[in-house]
Amino acid sequence: MNLLDEVGDAAVAHKVAHAVDTARLEARLRGLAAHGAVATGTGGGVARQALSAHELAARRWLVQPFAQRPGYRIGIDTAANVFVRRDGQESKLSPVMTGSHIDTQPLGGWLDGAFGVAAGLEVFDALDRLGLRTRRPIDVAMWTNEEGSRFAPGLMGSVAFTSPQRLDAFLGVRDGEGLCFEAARDAAVDDLRGEAQRLGWAWMDDTPLARPVHCYVEAHIEQGPVLEAEGLQVGCVTAIQGVRWFRITVAGRSAHAGTTPPASRDDAQAKAVRMAHALLEHAALCGDDRLRLTIGRWECSPGSINTIADRVVFTVDARHPEAAALDAVRLLIDTALPAGGQVEVLQDKPTVRFDAALASLAREACIALQLSHREMLSGAFHDAMPLAGFCPTAMLFAPSRAGVSHHPDEDTPIDDLAACTRALAWCLARLAGPLVSSTPNEPSKD
Ligand SMILES: [Zn+2]
Repeated sequence: MNLLDEVGDAAVAHKVAHAVDTARLEARLRGLAAHGAVATGTGGGVARQALSAHELAARRWLVQPFAQRPGYRIGIDTAANVFVRRDGQESKLSPVMTGSHIDTQPLGGWLDGAFGVAAGLEVFDALDRLGLRTRRPIDVAMWTNEEGSRFAPGLMGSVAFTSPQRLDAFLGVRDGEGLCFEAARDAAVDDLRGEAQRLGWAWMDDTPLARPVHCYVEAHIEQGPVLEAEGLQVGCVTAIQGVRWFRITVAGRSAHAGTTPPASRDDAQAKAVRMAHALLEHAALCGDDRLRLTIGRWECSPGSINTIADRVVFTVDARHPEAAALDAVRLLIDTALPAGGQVEVLQDKPTVRFDAALASLAREACIALQLSHREMLSGAFHDAMPLAGFCPTAMLFAPSRAGVSHHPDEDTPIDDLAACTRALAWCLARLAGPLVSSTPNEPSKD
């Protein structure tokens, strides 16, 4: 069945989008930011690492208003991913899913991940305000440990959800204090279940990993400068660009800096600099500004001011949406590598392309709602990356002030966040439609 065969009415989707309430969205985001808020005297920001006490409290706080509203159920799976389900008319159909993550870097901002979760819950409030019931259920997901700063690697929750066989390898991972992910996961599951039992929440009993999902649309801040620089409200993300990491070792022979004439020198530093120069020149002159090439680490030994280097190790991070461009970087590395040198591939992640029909639905939403927008690539990884290999997936970006993220200064004007949420609402309403009126169900004031 085609994803868009049964979409709901565009006029109704328009109404849902316009029921998005900027003040309510901001209040939820500010309330969420209070969980793990760092005192402004030290520069502000949010410290809410994966499955910390702050994150568990934030999860309870976010789900609580819905857990007590008719037509909603709360669930948690074996990767500690939390779901808020808004029931559909046909409860057996697979859900339309949205969401993101609410864990942060050790010191992060208030919007990375948090925005996508708050935006999804705001769409629930908008639907409730209008008294509309969708045909399919809609789930808002809070994925576990997207950031990967407390437990490595990142994206654990969304990877385990889409590839359950990978969960086992995550369970033994320990944080800096020696606590394993399995123990933190168990505590998170007990915490939410305990709260549900105490307060009599409606509960989703069956939340297996890899359960069918109709499609996934994630809203996120851009974390880059493009939308702001172009004065645009929404980015319709078509792909997450591919990345390859290389470690290059160049060998030479140590000798005295003053006594060794040019013809006798085997200078690892000189050879490595020539090679690095060739790579950076390629990036600067190839005429393709989609290529991102970074030499981020450089180590030289013995590192003495008056000794010719016998060894240089440096890294190359190359990113581009087309594999051919990354192949060209690899070819250049191989040809520029001095005799005796070595190249290791540390990471090779191909470009993840989002579903074309969903990406065009996102553009349609922006056109229908008269939001300024463009197609773009994501330079960073997101939970949508593993989801893209599992079900039709797309992303919407809101601009980031000065492109800053993973920093207390991370910010977006609230009107831009509301605009992106309206585009999300329009997409979810159509994907979960057709919409029918139910008894009006006003969001409570809590
Ligand atoms: Zn994020």
